[in-house]
Amino acid sequence: MKKYALVTLSSLLCLFILTSSTTMTTKKKPKKQKSGVTLSNLDNTSAPNFDFYQYACGGWMKLNPLGDEYARYGSFDALGENNQKQLQDLVAKLAAQKHAQGTIEQKIADLYNIGMNTDQLETQGNQPIQSELQDIASLQRNRLSTQLAEMLLEGHSCFFGIYGSADPDNSSMTIAHFWQSGIGLGDRDYYLEAEQQHIRDGYVKLMTDMFRMSGYSKIAGFEGDEQEMAQRVLALETCMADAFIDKVTLRDPYQSIHKCTVADFQKSIPAIDLNAYLRALKVYPDTINVGMPTYFASLSRILTISDWEVIKAYLAWQVINSAASYLSDEFVNANFDFYGKVLSGKQVDRPRWKRVVGTLNGTMGEALGQMYVKEYFPAEAKARMEQLVKNLQWALGERIKNSTWMTAETKKNALEKLAAFRVKIGYPDKWRDYSALQILNDSYYANVVRARRFETAYELAKIGKPVDPTEWFMTPQTVNAYYEPNTNEICFPAGILQPPFFDMNADDAANYGAIGVVIGHEMTHGFDDQGRNYDAKGNLTDWWTAEDAEAFKSRAQLIVDHFNAIEVAPGVYGNGSFTLGENIADNGGLNVSYAALQKAKQDGGIQGNMDGFTPEQRFFLAYAAVWANNIRPEEILRRTKTDPHSLGKWRVNGTLPHIDAFYEAFGIKQGDPMWLEPSKRARIW
Ligand SMILES: [Zn+2]
Repeated sequence: MKKYALVTLSSLLCLFILTSSTTMTTKKKPKKQKSGVTLSNLDNTSAPNFDFYQYACGGWMKLNPLGDEYARYGSFDALGENNQKQLQDLVAKLAAQKHAQGTIEQKIADLYNIGMNTDQLETQGNQPIQSELQDIASLQRNRLSTQLAEMLLEGHSCFFGIYGSADPDNSSMTIAHFWQSGIGLGDRDYYLEAEQQHIRDGYVKLMTDMFRMSGYSKIAGFEGDEQEMAQRVLALETCMADAFIDKVTLRDPYQSIHKCTVADFQKSIPAIDLNAYLRALKVYPDTINVGMPTYFASLSRILTISDWEVIKAYLAWQVINSAASYLSDEFVNANFDFYGKVLSGKQVDRPRWKRVVGTLNGTMGEALGQMYVKEYFPAEAKARMEQLVKNLQWALGERIKNSTWMTAETKKNALEKLAAFRVKIGYPDKWRDYSALQILNDSYYANVVRARRFETAYELAKIGKPVDPTEWFMTPQTVNAYYEPNTNEICFPAGILQPPFFDMNADDAANYGAIGVVIGHEMTHGFDDQGRNYDAKGNLTDWWTAEDAEAFKSRAQLIVDHFNAIEVAPGVYGNGSFTLGENIADNGGLNVSYAALQKAKQDGGIQGNMDGFTPEQRFFLAYAAVWANNIRPEEILRRTKTDPHSLGKWRVNGTLPHIDAFYEAFGIKQGDPMWLEPSKRARIW
């Protein structure tokens, strides 16, 4: 396997040298490396001990004002923007040529051209969704279960969803998981909190308009009463939201593990004929996991007592809402006015080409990724990343061995888990096969539905089969990284291996502060409040002694308390329990990567002062630079509700006060605003 990868890599290297014109150059390393600190990012009117985020990122924030199409724009997003332009170049070239039917080039080119064809979209109007809406309007109650299965295949998880994922007791096998789903506002708080009334009002208005525009109210016989029906659908979704298990409870993996047989599950959900549902999906599982039994019991009652016309209107709304982005401008704009403006504070929608490239990413992401890495990802970057990951793995191992709060038994298990990490860098060894996906010239939406069917079938086919450990859960062009507890793997797609995360031409002190912390962050996820419940094989197993588990919890509690006390907007506070895993990962990532930097320094791999900064200062400045961003007030509120990551500002100013080395690097003293009492600092990994 390794040998094969090496061969593939060297052929890529040749291609890259010939064609690259990007900043990620494979030219020989210049004799004099850069410091990796962009001086214009800094704001020298602030100071490191006063407000480190402002000091390290204030210059960037001033130079990069928030564009109208963004709710948040950070250095992270700037990189994503650049990746999107690169993808657009590749796609536009294909779209200008003719390709044989059935080739991946034909599929990408045709879907792009159909998505860009605004004349056709306007002419078709609401036509592409008419047959689905007709089917729903004439649906009989005894066909509900098969209808839900049909809709799931087309990507609508109405009321609940089912997917294939690892068996928590035997992570090498895929089983079926039933999960709560299907509320249009995304988070249950929007339905239940008094202060979210304006959001619910906006949602009802959107639904009202869409029932009319789609023609559903006419077909279903409630024309003129769209608003009343929208209110009733909101009430239905509110009952569901009320029965949903909340996001903080779900952080504990044991809370969503309830394995049983289909027959057992059937007893608690009489309103759904599970055999009919599964038959329609062509899924025949022996054992299933029901993520949240209390929700399903409530759902069954909700379905039994709800008016059939309201249930049908809810199903129709699911179709219309998920189709809106692929229909005429009337639908696109109404959708944006609520989800973009009201929920996030964006002023204008993204230009069409970005939205269509987004659709291509979502439907044939790995095919685009294959083209992307050929053109833009140098083999050298992969080799250097592999070395960095090894250094970080070593550093985390040393920190576990020298930890003062864990017993030898737990340390042994932790080290075993660390040594078993599967590491994925750049792009997958084998690529996804898209030959069964058809792209035809009927409508943009019809193609999106075929792509959703293709994707759902691919996911459901995993059920009952061994887990494929080589599968990637992100495309190579993604600016992100992940840890997956069931396969105990860390993954760093090619898209993130660029400045400001990773600079081939910079001294490594900054690289350790940026991509090094990202690597350490993902590794630490294996040991955060969720990840620590899984063993080296990815099974949900308690490998902790009781006293070590207690010590972990009390250390983690310092982070919960600290982030709970951060006022993110006037009168609104962070959610320390919801963001705990990410905050532990940032905390661990910083400590581990800092240790790796110290080792690299001892080995002579790091330069001394550069641009007036010590290696340690460059490390922390590079860390902060990753989180430089401007954000709208609406987006602060939305993310505080829905994003398990702390806001960029607090990933710097909330996280760094827990890191002892940060105090040394910048001479921060008691009484400074960035100072935190040593007894309140969380020291975990
Ligand atoms: Zn994370």
